[in-house]
Formats: sequence, C-alpha cells, structure tokens
Amino acid sequence: MARYTGPVCRLCRRDGVKLFLKGAKCFTEKCPVEKRNFAPGQHGQSKKVKKLVGYGLQLREKQKAKRIYFTLETQFRAYYEKAAARTGVTGELLLQQLETRLDNVAYRLGFAMSRRQSRQVVRHGHVLVNGKKVNIPSYQVKVGDVISITEKSKELSMLEASKNFAAGLGRVSWIDIAADNLSGKIIATPKREDIQIPVNEQQIVELYSK
Ligand code: SF4
Repeated sequence: MARYTGPVCRLCRRDGVKLFLKGAKCFTEKCPVEKRNFAPGQHGQSKKVKKLVGYGLQLREKQKAKRIYFTLETQFRAYYEKAAARTGVTGELLLQQLETRLDNVAYRLGFAMSRRQSRQVVRHGHVLVNGKKVNIPSYQVKVGDVISITEKSKELSMLEASKNFAAGLGRVSWIDIAADNLSGKIIATPKREDIQIPVNEQQIVELYSK
C-alpha cells in the first residue's frame, strides 16, 4: 500500500479533529479545522455529520492513530499483534510502541516541527542513538537510550525554528532533555497519560480483536 502524500489537512477535516500533522500551522488560526470544520470536498459542507458508532467508530480511531504516526496498515497491525501478545493493557502497549518510534522521539525532542518532517530527518541520517547513526524511522528506542543530532546537522537552519517550536509545546516527562536541547535520554516508558493524542485506543483493540 502506498503512503499518503496528499494534503494532510484534509485528513484532519475528514476526521473532524486536529491531528497536528503540519507543525506550527496547527497551533494558529490558519488551521483549516479552526476555519472550516466540515468534511473536505465539494459537498463536504452540506453533508450531515453522522455520529459514528460500532465498526465505523473503531475504524475511525484506527485511521486517526495511523495518520498521526504516519504508519501503514501492515506495520500498524504488527504493532497491535505485538501489544496483544504481551501482558498488560493492549491499547496502552500499542500506543507505547508508536510513541517510542525514533521518528516520534526526534519530533518530541524538537528536531522537527511535525512527525512527517521528523521522519525525513531520521531517514536522511541526522539522528544518532547512543552515538550511532540510525536512519530507520520505526526504530524502537528503549529506556537508557540517548538520542541526539549529528554535529553537522546542528547547523541546519530549520533546527533552530523547530527547537523554538518544541519549547513552546512543553517538556515530555519520559525524556530527559539536555540543557542545550540537542539530545535527550529516555528515562521511562511513556504511560497513557503521557501520550497526548486524540485517539481512543480501546476502539482499535476492539476492531482488531474481532
Ligand atoms: Fe492542518 Fe494541522 Fe490543522 Fe490538521 S491540525 S488541519 S494538519 S493545520
């Protein structure tokens, strides 16, 4: 299945909720969900908003999580299977795996303004894990890992802007961010309350466990 490369704001409007896919714009009044909170397309405005229940709701919640973390169905399903095989709350374990992807951690550290941009930052070899270059966006970080940016990448002009942007979003409790904001150590596994995303993970578990 191909990765979605179209306008991401349409995805938020389709779900009727801010998924924060575009960085700084998401926090301004230019956000299309703020300005035009109806479905995209010619008849979007006249369409009646249906209250989703059952399968429709479960599917919508899964789509939202996939879109927020930019994962494809096969990979997302694999995260679920792993979570279901472990002891604990499956929904929380699923979100933990998504949250501890290297591209997400780089986003949380402020190496990029959105997860999509962060994916590119990792792919292009700007990110180090324990001093070694890792260019796999789905790489799972673990407690004790130190994530940083390469010396050369510190000169990237977009880094300054994304650092300021991340500073405005506040700190993440499970990452100890260095004073210079250019590296962070994973000090805990994120709990559900640490993962601020508008998704009901229980609906996803119910969808897959049928
Ligand atoms: Fe676009 Fe961000 Fe608003 Fe979503 S939250 S519609 S990505 S600006």
